[in-house]
Amino acid sequence: MQFDLRNILGDFVAIFFPKECACCGCALKYQEKYICIACDFHLPYTNFHTYSDNDTARQLWGKVPIEEACSFILLQKGSRVERLIYQIKYNNQPFLAEYFGYQYGLKLLESELYRGLSAIVPIPLHTSKLRKRGYNQSTYFGQGLSRAMNIPLRDDVLKRQRATMTQTGKDRLSRYENVEDVFVCTQLSQPLGEHVLLVDDVLTTGATIVSATLTLQESWGCKVSVATLARAQ
Ligand SMILES: [Zn+2]
Repeated sequence: MQFDLRNILGDFVAIFFPKECACCGCALKYQEKYICIACDFHLPYTNFHTYSDNDTARQLWGKVPIEEACSFILLQKGSRVERLIYQIKYNNQPFLAEYFGYQYGLKLLESELYRGLSAIVPIPLHTSKLRKRGYNQSTYFGQGLSRAMNIPLRDDVLKRQRATMTQTGKDRLSRYENVEDVFVCTQLSQPLGEHVLLVDDVLTTGATIVSATLTLQESWGCKVSVATLARAQ
């Protein structure tokens, strides 16, 4: 009989230093990676990737031409998803975004609607914000999608021209004005292809996605589809 030393050590470490579920904070069992089985079961998955006429797509209709749009999970105030997003954005756990990106990528592969994509483009952070946080969670989300779907991640395409002020407390119109012309396209070392999947962590007003889509379409004439990790309700 052979003993797997890593498993034994893993169990040992888990007893004294249990990892917490990113959604509910309970101690994870050794087999659970980032979230517990109960949270995984109860997460409000949208299934938006299976049909075009969904709430995320509807939110963008009439503002910008978009092929398909979807969000993996719904974000409600005080929910386990809110805790998850907090861990990703503010508690230095961007690998959670990669993990969920990978899971979502597997789902998108099963969908007829997300075929023929040439690149995955994450919404960038402004350099000052990136320096402060140390990572871009949307890039991690895109990396997970890229790994599952075998489509190149292109984080060299969009650049944020200036930092936006915080959007909290602004009305809907000011939020749109707030992000206007905020993205620019950079010189590309390799062609982008015809149809990119633009990805972001959370869809709120949609203003950021609209602005980035317009920039991509004006600069490269490509088709754009959208995938976000969460959609705020
Ligand atoms: Zn949990």
